[in-house]
Amino acid sequence: MAVTAPLILVVEDEPVINQAVTDRLRGSGYDVAQAWDGPSAVALCADTSPDLVVLDVMLPGYDGFEVCRRIQAARPVPVLMLTARDDEADILVGLGVGADDYLTKPFRMRELLARVAALLRRVERAAELAERSPTKLGDLGDLSIDEGARRVRVGGEEVHLTPTEFDLLLCLAGSARTVLTREHLYAEVWGWSGASGTRTVDSHVKALRAKIGAHRVRTVHGVGYALEPGDPA
Ligand code: CA
Repeated sequence: MAVTAPLILVVEDEPVINQAVTDRLRGSGYDVAQAWDGPSAVALCADTSPDLVVLDVMLPGYDGFEVCRRIQAARPVPVLMLTARDDEADILVGLGVGADDYLTKPFRMRELLARVAALLRRVERAAELAERSPTKLGDLGDLSIDEGARRVRVGGEEVHLTPTEFDLLLCLAGSARTVLTREHLYAEVWGWSGASGTRTVDSHVKALRAKIGAHRVRTVHGVGYALEPGDPA
């Protein structure tokens, strides 16, 4: 852990839930900032640069998806989204706009803490790994990845990826033209196993494709994905 405690922004309009999550996170040693609607969440995120955002979908102002889009456009930050129970559409949209993980309501506080810790660990580990042993990247055509700065360019144009999208791309690029299974990607990028793993991978691949070009990520049905840098057109 860093010298200062990680700052977590909790965005939820239900006062009781917001406060319960906040208290529990503070009790676990995190600093916490709170927002109760979409616009103030975006403003507070810009002001405080949190290390992670816990973001409810149903919010006044604009909803959690729009909040996620706006904050990810400004600066990549890990987002744990809170969705209504079993609302698959919500989950897919959330992952598509840059949420890194999600929890369905009602959730147990212990589960929330585990997800928060896992996400923070993942980002920290990725930064450490980049410093210690950069991923060996072969010829990626017009795709360039700066692992240290966590920046990606396609044909010279910078592409803004969320933390998860970046880690996913890096994992695929480390074994370009090789098919990696969903299970492998989930274990490597998310760093833990869960029932929802493969669907999570699919959603993030979809979002990644939209940003770097669909043809660059090949689907092998029933198996997984491969990065196909190809020749610059
Ligand atoms: Ca709500």
